[in-house]
Amino acid sequence: MISPPEYIRSIRPYVPGKPVEELERELGIKGAVKLASNENPLGPSPEARKAVSRVLSELNRYPDGGGFYLKRELSGRLGVPAESLILGNGSNELIDIAVRTFMVAGDEAVMATPSFVVYPISTRSVGGRAVEVPLRRWRHDLERMAEEIGQRTKIVFVANPNNPTGTINHDREFREFMKRVPEGVLVVIDEAYREYVQDERYPDSLEYLREGRDVLILRTFSKAYGLAGLRIGYGIAKEGIVAEMNKVREPFNTNTAAQVAAVASLRDVEHVRRSVALNEEGKNYLYGEFKRLGLQFIPTEANFIYIRLDRPMASELYDRMLRLGVIIRPMGDEALRITIGLPEENRVLVEALERVLPALR
Ligand SMILES: *Cc1c(COP(=O)(O)O)cnc(C)c1O
Repeated sequence: MISPPEYIRSIRPYVPGKPVEELERELGIKGAVKLASNENPLGPSPEARKAVSRVLSELNRYPDGGGFYLKRELSGRLGVPAESLILGNGSNELIDIAVRTFMVAGDEAVMATPSFVVYPISTRSVGGRAVEVPLRRWRHDLERMAEEIGQRTKIVFVANPNNPTGTINHDREFREFMKRVPEGVLVVIDEAYREYVQDERYPDSLEYLREGRDVLILRTFSKAYGLAGLRIGYGIAKEGIVAEMNKVREPFNTNTAAQVAAVASLRDVEHVRRSVALNEEGKNYLYGEFKRLGLQFIPTEANFIYIRLDRPMASELYDRMLRLGVIIRPMGDEALRITIGLPEENRVLVEALERVLPALR
């Protein structure tokens, strides 16, 4: 059989979960609660739903490859020129495009671990080396990450907030870090969860764009905007960077339904506000319940909570929760990541934990 290069063979693949319907069928359960993928439990904005139904009859046409209306909407809101914007089939695709645009085999990308699993996969897919720097007190260790930047470093990935820990790096330390990043290294600032952040020390990443730095700011409609299934996100960078990335981008990478839904979602400010308020309420409820259950967790700035277990029991806990119809995400042997759901879903989660934990301790 044809064989890929060694750097492809050695990639550890991203393992997708089964469809909920399939799990329910296998386990003989109904109404499973899905708290595994950091999706918005309120669903998409009603305005987005309407916008999508209005374009159904045009789906024989190719989408607008330039994303004119969405870029115009974003440009007005962000105060950046449309030429500084690039749309992606999820911000995920933009990670991949950035890697393919700026890295060749043998180059390095610096990133934290644990962090978003797509960074090392993309890096390795072009024969790049993923330089992984352990978190420090559950946050990106920006000092060490700066130290790891070498001759072959092309990209530094910073997830802020970080997935899976939900932690942020503050504006002061981020500025110190940026002082140490040399010209010619691209800092990818992944802000997938920015709408949920409450801490006022959260950096304004657009400052670095205005200063002319080599940054690519990534944002998405998959989380607070509730459009994960449509796959749409965007990047913000100076025009020269966007122009190079556009050469590598598929001409029709974002689809018609996603583009109109994104515009409608941006205008429905109330839906985002509701989503964030619901998240705050769920977060506070779960903090209280986790404390009561003796579970250690990392305070979060996102829509999920990272739980540290006291012994390696994550996969067993996951299995038992699954059989009670609650889907969560094990993270290695000794941690879990749980998405904050609707009030009722959070209650079901807590009840399931109450039943399962005593048997495992
Ligand atoms: C969910 C997530 C994204 C968003 O991915 P999309 O491709 O836009 O759905 C990006 N970065 C991180 C860290 C995430 O957790």
